[in-house]
Amino acid sequence: MINEIAPDLFNSQFEANQTCNDSDYILYFKERQVLLKPNGDAFKLPQKKDIAGLPSDTTFIYLFRVKNKACFLLKTTAGINDTNLCFEDINIFRYLPQVPGWACLLGFQLYNWYNNHQFCGKCGHKTRLKDDERAIHCDHCETTIYPNISPAIIVAIICKDRILLARGAQWPEGRFSLVAGYTDVGESLEETVIREVKEEVGLDIKNIRYYKNHPWPLSGSLMVGFIADADDQQTIIIDEKEIAEAAWFTRDNLPPYSPEISISGEMIDQFRKGKL
Ligand SMILES: [Zn+2]
Repeated sequence: MINEIAPDLFNSQFEANQTCNDSDYILYFKERQVLLKPNGDAFKLPQKKDIAGLPSDTTFIYLFRVKNKACFLLKTTAGINDTNLCFEDINIFRYLPQVPGWACLLGFQLYNWYNNHQFCGKCGHKTRLKDDERAIHCDHCETTIYPNISPAIIVAIICKDRILLARGAQWPEGRFSLVAGYTDVGESLEETVIREVKEEVGLDIKNIRYYKNHPWPLSGSLMVGFIADADDQQTIIIDEKEIAEAAWFTRDNLPPYSPEISISGEMIDQFRKGKL
């Protein structure tokens, strides 16, 4: 999975009182686009020294450490117009090496979190970043806001040598994944698994067991992976608002998937290898 990186190559722990040096890495986002430095036919994370003519209102927010260099979120209202750099859609993370790819993804989650909490949701006053932890504070009503992380489940439904995969309503033909969904208030993770499977594909499941979990910054979720058994003689009834199609696949007849990036791809790959 893309987040499985040695701590000396990537460390997301917050560090207080960091100042941005010329060699530190910079993440700058414009809506869903990230600023990158072309490097032959690939891309690198830009360093501060790579960005010419920083606007006077530029501020840097410490994010995490990449290969022992600090990485900062750059904020400015003036925009960055350095022609030696380029903007790419955030989905470029799929094609970057693992460490900068994960840095872009996690930086994008924090960029959205900072943007969405410039004002207090309780009293409406302007907020400020806390110095001593990754948090936002409202001095007016003393509310502290931490990054939003939403628990969600993802489940490999298995019957002997077959696995159930589903295609999301908005996904292109041929793209399948495991059934997944957000945990509702008051619900345990196992209850979410039972409910989501019933809602999305109409199946009853049993023998629910934990697999692993995976932070997924694009949706701000923590995906908790489970395996469950189901009788494949049951009728599949899809929720057409969320699912375009669902079907059982054998190990030698799986649709394309990426085993290196997400927990879904890893679990499908483990199934193919006979390990699930
Ligand atoms: Zn407030």
